[in-house]
Amino acid sequence: MNKGDHVLNALLLGIGIGVLLDPSLSVDTLSTIGMVTIPVVVGALFPDVDTAFGTHRQTLHNALVLSGFVLFPVFYGNLYYVWIGIATHFVLDLLGTQAGIAVLYPYDGMFDVPVGVNVDSNLATLVTVLVTGVELVAVAGLIRYGYGDLLRAPALWDVLVGVLP
Ligand SMILES: [Zn+2]
Repeated sequence: MNKGDHVLNALLLGIGIGVLLDPSLSVDTLSTIGMVTIPVVVGALFPDVDTAFGTHRQTLHNALVLSGFVLFPVFYGNLYYVWIGIATHFVLDLLGTQAGIAVLYPYDGMFDVPVGVNVDSNLATLVTVLVTGVELVAVAGLIRYGYGDLLRAPALWDVLVGVLP
């Protein structure tokens, strides 16, 4: 997707996650929205830095980059929620390009899904909003079933440690 749609997706996703995490609709909800939305927007903008450095839709559009941002909070205790922006950027690029992204970079094969719209299509923004809705339903499910902490990422580690023998 283009930059505007990535930002729209990240803003709606951040606000939605903030409300889902703190549905009290109080000042605390506003604080939670800020805490989540800013890192998600930063994460959603980051992959396209490879338009300037490296090869676009390859160097920073892959599982290594996503894994780095999932694990970073575990080791350093900051950059929470940035991974969500990275992940949603990849989802939108898979649905909004013809070429796909290099998920397994440095292996240079490009991966794509058989459905989607052209980034320049009039439908791109509609698809972006629909994808955001699906993502928020998934987030609501995680929170509903007690896995809301996964969204911060470090808890992912706790869960893995908890289920491993
Ligand atoms: Zn991209």
